[in-house]
Amino acid sequence: DYPVYGRIDGPIVMIGFGSIGKGTWPLIERHFDYDADRFTVIEPDARQANFLRQHKLNHVTTALTPENYREVLGGLFPEGKGFCVNLSVDTSSLDIMKFCREIGVLYIDTVVEPWAGFYFDTQNNAERTNYALRQKVRDEKAANPGGTTAVSCCGANPGMVSWFVKEALLTLARDTGRDVAAPKDRDGWAKLMMQLGVQGVHIAERDTQARRQPRPRGVFVNTWSVEGFIAEGFQPAELGWGTHEPWFPENGHRHETGCKAGIWLERPGAITRVHTWCPTPGPQFGFLVTHNEAISISDYYTVGAKDAPEFRPTCHYAYHPSDDAVLSLHEMFGSGRQQEKHHILDVDEIVEGIDELGVLLYGHEKNALWYGSRLSNAETPDLAPYQNATGLQVTSAVLAGMVWALENPQAGIVETDEMDHARCLEVQTPYLGPVEAHYTDWTPLQDRWEHFPEDIDESVPWAFRNVLAT
Ligand code: NAD
Repeated sequence: DYPVYGRIDGPIVMIGFGSIGKGTWPLIERHFDYDADRFTVIEPDARQANFLRQHKLNHVTTALTPENYREVLGGLFPEGKGFCVNLSVDTSSLDIMKFCREIGVLYIDTVVEPWAGFYFDTQNNAERTNYALRQKVRDEKAANPGGTTAVSCCGANPGMVSWFVKEALLTLARDTGRDVAAPKDRDGWAKLMMQLGVQGVHIAERDTQARRQPRPRGVFVNTWSVEGFIAEGFQPAELGWGTHEPWFPENGHRHETGCKAGIWLERPGAITRVHTWCPTPGPQFGFLVTHNEAISISDYYTVGAKDAPEFRPTCHYAYHPSDDAVLSLHEMFGSGRQQEKHHILDVDEIVEGIDELGVLLYGHEKNALWYGSRLSNAETPDLAPYQNATGLQVTSAVLAGMVWALENPQAGIVETDEMDHARCLEVQTPYLGPVEAHYTDWTPLQDRWEHFPEDIDESVPWAFRNVLAT
């Protein structure tokens, strides 16, 4: 017996039916009341046609472009209501979100995606950052506050991890003997993080999902969108830049405009390694792949003026993807060319592993706390069909975001930091496997190679200078 969270009046249009779209559809079907004949998928890839036909889902095969999106979506939402669920690559989140709000249609996505071509055709690295992509959405929110709800970046990360940060803060407050109620607003959350002495947050992930067959050379293998991962992997490494940092990277750049919470490095994220920690491996290397949440979390938890904050946490992704994906990256960057063959590991071919995705809050009196989901691929099929563990962490966040949007239909443009984290996790948690808190006394000063001198700062163990692997 699955809870039905409400009725979606009008059409539901899902843009993109890749690994995330295909996994989100059964959750929508399970948890909402809607007219099934008004559910349409926009998916240009002919390989999905058979599945869509077999499941009697309306299928539009047109790829959305800057030229046609208003006409195609306008035709599918004739009466100013419904829900647009954007789960595709190569479509502008901002343009589609604006259009949906214009016509009164609820909207959700999992990333601030640009139109096709942006990631590789844009020459200026500052413009290729997630900071720049996100800031345009924030500027749109500031220019047009309120109105029809559009949820920006509501997947696992960005998305769910912002709800985990809040749960981790409350856990840390409890475990350090503080009697605190959940803050009611942004200011309260930021001050709580500051009072707890948190210096920063890693979005610390270890994906151990693997299939039996070794990765064939020349194939990029991943547990979610290969296209999406390659695109973000080639963007500059980026992080929210905190107030406790005693040093500034030589190849680092600040931004002149916007929230000022982030910096970017003159180097692709997917070959920039950081020292980090997850429960299963303990210490490990992660890749400093740019992500929206690195900026949004540092921005949200800023205390004081954006130009001279009293407190701001450092925040970045520290991603150890599946071993096959690590090898795929190694091959791609080493050869200087993208593999032509792409493969997303299917739930049925994966023989072992979990996606361990959480937030590592560090620098406080208990050193570091990892809080997150340790969902195994083996338990995933019992929870929901058509996806691996990585997929379910994302699709269940989309479900939670849709429920929240339906319950708050006039909230304007929101990021997951700005949503009711307790309500969202209430909806999502049944799909996350074990959700656990783990303390560690590990710091980036430990487990280093002693034989070579390193340029590190022992006086501030969690300084980014120590986290960044040279
Ligand atoms: P995927 O590559 O498996 O599927 C993307 C789909 O979009 C493909 O089927 C493709 O045919 C379709 N598409 C491409 N161009 C299109 C266009 N112009 N119009 C309509 N459809 C188009 O990707 P995925 O793994 O399903 O991921 C989907 C999106 O979700 C990506 O943007 C990815 O970055 C994002 N994502 C976010 C998170 C998160 O945690 N926030 C996690 C995983 C994926």
